[in-house]
Amino acid sequence: MEETKPIFGVAGTPTNFKGKFKDLFAWLRDMGLNAYEIQCVYGFKISDVNKEIYKQEQQNGMFFSIHAPYYINLGSKNTPSVEKSKEYMRQGIELAKSIGVNRIIFHPGGGHDNTPEGRKIAIKQLIDAVNEITLNTDMGDVRFYPEIGGKTANLGSLDEIIEICKQCKYCYPCIDIAHLHAREVGSLVDKQAIRDRLDKIKAEIPEKFKHIHFHAYTIQYNDKGEMHHLVHGENMKDGSVGKPNLEEFVEVLHEMDIQPWVISEASDSQEIGAKYMRDLYYKDIK
Ligand SMILES: [Zn+2]
Ligand SMILES: [Zn+2]
Repeated sequence: MEETKPIFGVAGTPTNFKGKFKDLFAWLRDMGLNAYEIQCVYGFKISDVNKEIYKQEQQNGMFFSIHAPYYINLGSKNTPSVEKSKEYMRQGIELAKSIGVNRIIFHPGGGHDNTPEGRKIAIKQLIDAVNEITLNTDMGDVRFYPEIGGKTANLGSLDEIIEICKQCKYCYPCIDIAHLHAREVGSLVDKQAIRDRLDKIKAEIPEKFKHIHFHAYTIQYNDKGEMHHLVHGENMKDGSVGKPNLEEFVEVLHEMDIQPWVISEASDSQEIGAKYMRDLYYKDIK
């Protein structure tokens, strides 16, 4: 399935949902939400029962992406762990194909020196690893989405994500705007700042920009970047309103007339954050 309008959804199963898993998707649809990011963050494993549920729910209009395990690290200094990561990514491709899912989100990782030179080496290594995987694997419709990293030391700055997407045919941008804000130590101060980042992506990788994937929520950070995801509506520790500002983000989506997937990763309130953005977006559209 291809998106023809922006879709909004959640990362994993909200803690506020108390029913049976198979009934989750009707609960989400009742809120106008039709995307769900499957959290394979501890391994590319999905039970047969849940595979059937995902396949069925795609018929009911749900869109699914898969978040890869946290231990995957294609940017590691440790060669065996890069080799293992490649193997896991191949498993992820097979899993995604088996349930008709075409977006795999992954963290670029890290481990080389956090210097411009060290980061360049790591990104080059990651690009080579991804290209090796995709060259030797039937990708079907599956695409990889390297995600913006939340900490300043993580790989996955905006420029690095753009570079990966330029060099890897199968890579598309996962722009976690909260991670971006945190790793740039509070950079997304207003609507123009958000717009500038998206304009840059659009200018540099226009075809891939059309299939952009967002994570959007507010975040607590310090001078090293991400500390933790905030609950939707929660203030920062200093009492200020949580950023990045979701109203401004939604306005930018309108202005740019794009059809992204927007996944809320608000802590224990992802459906509330997703519905908030969804309702803001569609309130002007009859
Ligand atoms: Zn992530
Ligand atoms: Zn994220």
